[in-house]
Amino acid sequence: MAQRVSVPVASDSAGCSSCQPRIWRPGAQRVSRYDIVISGAGVAGLWLARKLAKLGYCVLVLEKGRVVAAYASTRNEGWLHCGTYHGGAIPVRDIALRVARQTLDGYRQTLAFAPEAIEEKTTQTFALVRSLDIAEVESRWSEVGVPFERITKHEFAGLVPEVRTKDVSAFFRVNDVSINNRVLYRKLIKDAARNGARFLGNAGIQSFDGMRANVETPSGIESFEAKMFVCAAGFGIREFFLTRFDKPVDLALRLWKSHLIDLPRVARHGVFCLDSGEATLMHHKQWTIAGFNSDSTAVTEPSFDTVMPGNVEADKVALERMLRHVDFTGARPRACIKVDQDPGAGIDVFVAADGTSYPRPQLGITYGQPLPGHLWMLPGKMSEAPYVADRVISLIQAQVTPTRAVAGWAGKALPRIAKRPIDGYPATDTASAGADRSARRTAAGERGK
Ligand SMILES: Cc1cc2nc3c(=O)[nH]c(=O)nc-3n(C[C@H](O)[C@H](O)[C@H](O)COP(=O)(O)OP(=O)(O)OC[C@H]3O[C@@H](n4cnc5c(N)ncnc54)[C@H](O)[C@@H]3O)c2cc1C
Repeated sequence: MAQRVSVPVASDSAGCSSCQPRIWRPGAQRVSRYDIVISGAGVAGLWLARKLAKLGYCVLVLEKGRVVAAYASTRNEGWLHCGTYHGGAIPVRDIALRVARQTLDGYRQTLAFAPEAIEEKTTQTFALVRSLDIAEVESRWSEVGVPFERITKHEFAGLVPEVRTKDVSAFFRVNDVSINNRVLYRKLIKDAARNGARFLGNAGIQSFDGMRANVETPSGIESFEAKMFVCAAGFGIREFFLTRFDKPVDLALRLWKSHLIDLPRVARHGVFCLDSGEATLMHHKQWTIAGFNSDSTAVTEPSFDTVMPGNVEADKVALERMLRHVDFTGARPRACIKVDQDPGAGIDVFVAADGTSYPRPQLGITYGQPLPGHLWMLPGKMSEAPYVADRVISLIQAQVTPTRAVAGWAGKALPRIAKRPIDGYPATDTASAGADRSARRTAAGERGK
């Protein structure tokens, strides 16, 4: 059962200090103003809220649930990726390099912000290669700057006697770590709140009236105006854009179910294999969370409650391949849902040896602005959330000026920054074509585990 972080519900909903309520008279509906309203307090929404609040934006986070991060953000392996897995495992080199860079950036940001979230400081993590091209894997890691050290089979076997070495062709000491993501989320919330962000639990936008959102809250319907709305609602994003606007917007988001097996701790050190179909072991004190490469099945409902027995059996076999001894008596298989955007027919298809083709989930970040004033974002991985937040912030900064006062500035609002000469140039076809291309590239995402 995932542990949960309580939502610090705003004591009132009057907006942050400099965004005063615009209308408030007895009997009238109260409208509070914010620069940015974020829907969803998973890892993506929390990173975005913290970063925007620090930049002086008045931020409100609306979380539909009673607690925050109740879904993928706390039900994952807690593996803070360092670019190692995706840099090596994604079949197409340039996609692998891009995802590895994004992930490494998120890794560095996460550890710089919350080093105390690392679950264990004294254990190590190892990556194994069975049949992948070792020189190619090493060259990708080197190009991106993923830290690694190749070690001998003998050294590995001495350090991690629990793991089989047969059929493993290369052993690496790497920097990936397991984190207690609740520690990270608590710190993000506290830091965002310290910088003026408000959090409202049990609250979700029901409808829009221009840039005013009507929100169902525990105390009734409230209205919030914002200069920009960001939907960071994970599996809820698709339904949000399909139902909240006059004209439905279909973002073609897909849901994928994959499985994890929680086991009483099976090894001292963390280990993951880069090859398709193999297992990964991240430890959290007395528990090991085992994950499985390529265990993703397209589903239509975001159900975390039921597992697919066939997938779990295949996952157990992968664990037996990895571990010398595995006792499933205390094992708890569970499901987790990943969300991605369909990159288009035929693009992300895995062709099996027998010629059968399957769509594959993408792992990269995706985000976009389907309507004026409305953005959405998916991190792909918890580890990529700071990176995608930065991309989204660059879109926000081009359109919304922060209004909150900052210490050290005498005026009520933020000091205005002089424009660069290029900011005053008229938009050119080339510039907007470039922006479109990069938006399409972003939407195309990446594939992998
Ligand atoms: C099996 C599995 C293992 C994984 N392991 C890892 C890992 O070890 N490391 C890693 O980096 N990544 C991992 N990932 C990926 C990672 O967990 C996700 O990419 C990430 O948690 C997604 O975060 P999110 O904030 O976008 O979504 P979510 O965590 O789903 O958060 C969305 C939030 O929005 C809320 N919400 C929904 N609808 C609304 C609405 N209408 N209004 C307001 N709020 C709403 C939800 O209640 C929720 O709190 C894993 C994924 C899977 C499937």
